[in-house]
Amino acid sequence: MDATGTSATQALIAKEARYGARNYAPVPVVVDHAKDCLVWDVEGKEYIDMMSAYSSVSHGHLHPRIVAAARRQLEQVAVMSRAYYSTTLGALLEKLSQLTGFERALPMNTGAEAVETAIKCARRWGHRVKGIPDGQQRILVARGNFHGRTTTIIGFSSEQDYRAGFGPFDGGFDHFDYGDIESVKAATSANTCAVLIEPIQGEAGVLVPPPGFFQALREWCTQNNILLIDDEVQAGLGRTGRWFAFQHEGIRPDALILGKALGAGLLPVSAFCADDKVMSVFVPNSHGSTFGGNALAAAVALEGLKVLEEEGLVEHCAEKGEYLFRRLREVQAEVRPLIRDVRGRGLWIGVDIDPSCTTARDLVERLALAGVLSKETHETVIRFAPPLTITTELMDRAVEIFRRVVVEKHRELGLDRA
Ligand SMILES: *Cc1c(COP(=O)(O)O)cnc(C)c1O
Repeated sequence: MDATGTSATQALIAKEARYGARNYAPVPVVVDHAKDCLVWDVEGKEYIDMMSAYSSVSHGHLHPRIVAAARRQLEQVAVMSRAYYSTTLGALLEKLSQLTGFERALPMNTGAEAVETAIKCARRWGHRVKGIPDGQQRILVARGNFHGRTTTIIGFSSEQDYRAGFGPFDGGFDHFDYGDIESVKAATSANTCAVLIEPIQGEAGVLVPPPGFFQALREWCTQNNILLIDDEVQAGLGRTGRWFAFQHEGIRPDALILGKALGAGLLPVSAFCADDKVMSVFVPNSHGSTFGGNALAAAVALEGLKVLEEEGLVEHCAEKGEYLFRRLREVQAEVRPLIRDVRGRGLWIGVDIDPSCTTARDLVERLALAGVLSKETHETVIRFAPPLTITTELMDRAVEIFRRVVVEKHRELGLDRA
């Protein structure tokens, strides 16, 4: 408290609220500093980060090796633009190629920019390689998709909050029902050049596709000369317990979009990855980004990939993910019918709340008060996606707090006596 009785938290929240656009409704926690899976607010209170910035902080906050790599690069050079070569970008591209199995990568900054890159690539490929008249290329997207916030991308969102009032939208997209191959077939036309899809729909509520869907989709795309573009901005780089979520499906897409964790918790770094036969539609002047692939970003991303590999974080995630899933299922059984479903893969779990009991947001705020950071998606789903470095001991602490919060809610609602 200061002399006027205002806490540091209140003062900082008030300042953001007073001068910022109102495009977010943050959970009322003011973060002061963080280390690995723990976060401290300005009052000194400790939290377990079970959100990790939507998977951007998969390595844990301020991983010492990544911070050291950034520091080293900051003694050298940070930003020169792609007008020149750098000492770090080539090594990052090579590493991405080794890990993804794709021949080339095009670096951008945010996830949305990498998605835009994919859309441009698909359309030009559709015209120049597939022979669709220019301007008539169409891309299939799933209902409930989330691919970012640019005007093109929200133009094919099925979420009214993301779209309303932001038109006109430029079209060229057709929708299918996620996980339904018949719906994909019905939406396909001769002008379809690509399917753009998330391997698990995150924003839609951590929806895992039905078994066999991706294999059928892969076959359909191959038969019809359609590019299968896999948006793993959130799912990629270990989050699901495999390096890439498509590996769970036993398929290989034609192109892969990475972001979030690619920046290793320090910077926005994204990439569009594909083989040469697809990537070669890009020639000088056809696409670019001033900051994309800058020397600092490349140094950080490269070190981040090495940390995932050398610290075995992908395998660690698979193991810890199964544990967290099991523990959350136990909590579900204790508070019937408050939790409708627990689903996900690896350390990416959605807890679906029965809306007749309460909202996900209510529980997210109670969890924050109790020292666990999570985030709701839509009205009913609480998302848990801790750093991949999380220990069993910390997960036990977080689950115990979650259990207390939902058991209390259960009691408040009189469900324990029902
Ligand atoms: C977050 C996300 C994006 C957009 O990334 P930004 O960095 O916010 O632009 C795109 N696709 C998916 C699947 C995402 O989760």
